[in-house]
Amino acid sequence: MVPSIKILPPEIQNQIAAGEVVERPASVLKELIENSLDAGATSIEVNLKKGGLESIEVIDNGVGIQEQELELALTRHATSKITYFPDLLSISTYGFRGEALPSIASVSKFTLKSRPKYQEIGFEINVKFGQIQPKKPITMPYGTHVIVNELFANIPARLKFLKTPPTEKRRSIQTFLKQALPHTEIEFKLFSDKQEIFHFYAQEDILSRLTKIWPKHIVSCLEKINFQDDNIQITGLASRPESIQARGDRIFLYVNKRPVQDKLLLSAIKKAYEGKILRNEFPQVILFLDIPPELVDVNVHPAKLEVRFSEEKTIFNAVRKAIQNTLEATTLFSFHPTKT
Ligand code: ADP
Ligand code: MG
Repeated sequence: MVPSIKILPPEIQNQIAAGEVVERPASVLKELIENSLDAGATSIEVNLKKGGLESIEVIDNGVGIQEQELELALTRHATSKITYFPDLLSISTYGFRGEALPSIASVSKFTLKSRPKYQEIGFEINVKFGQIQPKKPITMPYGTHVIVNELFANIPARLKFLKTPPTEKRRSIQTFLKQALPHTEIEFKLFSDKQEIFHFYAQEDILSRLTKIWPKHIVSCLEKINFQDDNIQITGLASRPESIQARGDRIFLYVNKRPVQDKLLLSAIKKAYEGKILRNEFPQVILFLDIPPELVDVNVHPAKLEVRFSEEKTIFNAVRKAIQNTLEATTLFSFHPTKT
């Protein structure tokens, strides 16, 4: 007998999508912060409990969601960010798939509270492992407040892959920093188990933010990168070789303001430090690549951490040169007689 074909119920569709978008607390946090950024927030607060395993909370003062659209925000492929296909080629917002909220809500005890400025009251909607409850009116400041409790409690197979609270906390903090560092115009606060971990003020420049997360002597070894080649612009910071360390978590890469993880960029950095660095050592680098949108595809992976460049060699060489130029300029200007 031929089995008949059926469309999966929406809860199952959402759980499957969650498998791609949501891997751990840090990936939930990334999606929620991106939504706050897309909503034009000027202040974003994050609260983690047990590294996000118990709860992840993001509070913003962005545009909010209208009462009548709260359920829609929790519906798969519903988004306010693109309306027709050609938009995909010129995406300027972080989100665009309309998958994050429904996915996260299908694998957690989820609360969404929101109030646009013009609405006198806010509304709260709870979702228990994909089951949407009726919304209720609440008083709240304008903006959006999302709480994700008990991530993956309904999916033992996924729960198994989560690490200990300290490890998940470390990853969540790294995600927070990746998002917060470049948005110097926005205030960011991070609390973990009610303790304040970081508070970045609005209009606080990146160097000042870095002194809050890295030791002073590391920050003082950073040199400014400023590089322009045709239509590629590279800015950021790179450490002088004397501060090179055996830890790789002090490299932050951005392409058109999106945080990325990219092997090509990493290998270009390694190349630039060749001869100054051992195999297991890393420099501290913050790199902002600004390239025409048509040279990069952000649609490769649902978590959007990976990008694909259409002219890999050009990008590789530009990054290598940008850093090499910076390092050469500093050795020219800072003469160390004892080191010759
Ligand atoms: P996407 O970001 O891809 O559009 P999401 O599932 O993350 O999809 O969010 C769905 C929709 O909910 C968004 O398009 C937006 O309209 C609304 N939304 C989500 N988070 C916020 C927020 N913090 N502030 C305002 N609107 C939000
Ligand atoms: Mg989103």
